[in-house]
Amino acid sequence: MADRTWSLGGALKGLFTNPTIDDDTWDDLESALIGADFGPDLADEILDELRANVAKYKTTDPRDLKRMLREALEERLAAHDPTLTLSNRPAVVLVVGVNGVGKTTTIGKFAKFLTGYGRTVVVGAADTFRAAAVDQLATWAERAGAQVVRPQHAGQDPASVAYQTVQFAIDNGVEIAIIDTAGRLQTKAGLMDELGKVTRVIEKLAPIAEVLLVLDGTTGQNGLAQAEAFIESAGVTGLVVTKLDGSAKGGFVLRVQQQTGIPIKLIGQGEGIGDLTGFTPHVFAASLVP
Ligand code: GDP
Repeated sequence: MADRTWSLGGALKGLFTNPTIDDDTWDDLESALIGADFGPDLADEILDELRANVAKYKTTDPRDLKRMLREALEERLAAHDPTLTLSNRPAVVLVVGVNGVGKTTTIGKFAKFLTGYGRTVVVGAADTFRAAAVDQLATWAERAGAQVVRPQHAGQDPASVAYQTVQFAIDNGVEIAIIDTAGRLQTKAGLMDELGKVTRVIEKLAPIAEVLLVLDGTTGQNGLAQAEAFIESAGVTGLVVTKLDGSAKGGFVLRVQQQTGIPIKLIGQGEGIGDLTGFTPHVFAASLVP
């Protein structure tokens, strides 16, 4: 696993080795939570719960507080089921998100993640307006040991590429079809219409197993605001948070899950093909509060 820069470890340094829980402890904890992008509301909620627990158990030991913090985070992180539903044959996964968040890279990593478990995968390059993106996606897919369905010409209807990809999976017994989609930000209405068409066309062949929205973990609330249209109208079933390596904003993961009510399913933590992991609440809680 890459370095866990999202860990609260550094920000909490010293806090849990204090001889006792005092006002400074609470101030430092609040700063650490805000600094890690939990947001003021969630930070307050967590602090209130911890204060109540510290009073209830009449403890002054910072090590108890540390355990309570980890448990409070884990309980919240586990409030949504992170399991990917990929049992249909083929299981169709639509990947959506604004350009630049790491969508292409995530698809490559996800394909590798699946082929690593012995699954067969085809990747459909339905973001047909970015020729370079199609090439980049094809390169990733090949490295991952997945097959690729590319548009026959630039600007081919994305829905027809999506259809061909699912048809390819059916004809060739490929287990999972991952479909890239466009993420141009300027024309939200057009983008959502296009996505609606892609969805309808795919559903003529197979149900859609997952719609994964990719979010850049370093952009916080801004990134979430930009992805609003997808959350409102794309039927998102899971979130992928990328670029957590090198980001001290691990709190964003919990915040975004609470705000949207959509489970985090995958975490991207690097530019390499192996840098994607499934989301396990207790592991993530333990890495936030080591
Ligand atoms: P797209 O426009 O959404 O398809 O974005 P790309 O997949 O092309 O990624 C944009 C940039 O983010 C590239 O330079 C990637 O290497 C980088 N990137 C993607 N995921 C991660 C990640 O998890 N960690 C880091 N550090 N960089 C990432």
